[in-house]
Amino acid sequence: MDSQTLMMLSEKHIAHTYARYSIVLVRGKGTRVWDKEGREYLDFVSGLAVCNLGHCHPRVVQAIHDQAEKLLHVSNFYYIEPQIQLASLLCRHSFADKVFFCNSGAEANEGALKLARKYAKAKMGGSRYEVITMERSFHGRTLATLTATAQTKYHKGYDPLMPGFKYVPFDKLEALRKAIDEKTCAVLIEPIQGEGGVNIPSEGYLRSLREICDEKGILLIFDEVQVGMGRTGRLFAYEHEGIMPDMLTLAKSLAGGVPIGALLIHKGVGDVFEPGDHASTFGGNPLATAAGVAALTAMLEEGMLKNCERVGNYFFSRLEELKKKFAFVREVRGRGLILGMELELEGGSIVKEMMQRGFLINCTMGNVLRFLPPLIVTEEEVDRMIEALEEVFKGVT
Ligand SMILES: *Cc1c(COP(=O)(O)O)cnc(C)c1O
Repeated sequence: MDSQTLMMLSEKHIAHTYARYSIVLVRGKGTRVWDKEGREYLDFVSGLAVCNLGHCHPRVVQAIHDQAEKLLHVSNFYYIEPQIQLASLLCRHSFADKVFFCNSGAEANEGALKLARKYAKAKMGGSRYEVITMERSFHGRTLATLTATAQTKYHKGYDPLMPGFKYVPFDKLEALRKAIDEKTCAVLIEPIQGEGGVNIPSEGYLRSLREICDEKGILLIFDEVQVGMGRTGRLFAYEHEGIMPDMLTLAKSLAGGVPIGALLIHKGVGDVFEPGDHASTFGGNPLATAAGVAALTAMLEEGMLKNCERVGNYFFSRLEELKKKFAFVREVRGRGLILGMELELEGGSIVKEMMQRGFLINCTMGNVLRFLPPLIVTEEEVDRMIEALEEVFKGVT
């Protein structure tokens, strides 16, 4: 079937929740993807921070293949070998001592919200249930995580929203301190905001946030669905801060492209979960967790974090150069290989022109170009993308 027919059928039969670009991607390898016509693209989107290892990483492909021949699925009634292996690996390399597996970022955040409420009822005296989240945050599209997402554009048409949430501005300690009251049980925050425009908090903000949560006896939950799994040059973004959250959520890149979500839980907090309290049919499924073990092992063994830090710094400096050349570039932000370039104009047409030149990039908040290449991207590939971007910028009036 040619791409015109495919796109026509897509419009006809797939719910119109996505505004799509007019290409059908059919193949990927490393930093590159190809469309149905065989056109090649250098990928600076990575399926929205999913393909951190690059497309079709051989170790992930092999693990999926091997697991598919052995066992695709069994119920969580039984012990599941790759699930246990992935949980052990995650705990060995993080602050956590327990993991709850699910299938997406929203679901991981749902788990965190449920556990926070349960923990508050069991350990905080019973009257606390409210969770404070940040303006410009993004936590998912289920009703609870949508409500946690403090951006009204996502709320439209879905009220009544869930009770039990309160919003404060990102990176503002005083506002947060004031918002905490006798009903607060947790703060949920992305250590770097992704969808909200690649917003980096001030130095020391997250450490102070940790102190405030300790002082008030409330839980601190990091949503690292986008910035976890190596994206910032460390396995987890919290590692840059010298602090630890009480819970952390993962999804996107955790299984190298296979759907998965995980809630990482600090010692003590997870103990209030008892059999029957929470569940997911596919959560920790053999196929997904076998892919996860392969993905995490590859990330740790193949120097990807080092490459992410080095190429990320280089990339940042190249974006800064562009900023100096073009007055409509307002700011360059980011860490490792999550980089944002805020413009004084809409970025949508720039994304389209870059696509015509063979480069996939993304734009968020209307005017922030966002770059999320696989962590294996090279300086030479960054140069090629920057060169194309400069050409496109020259045509901007
Ligand atoms: C993508 C994302 C989510 C939602 O993940 P889904 O898998 O789409 O449910 C949640 N939080 C953050 C920070 C994200 O970037």
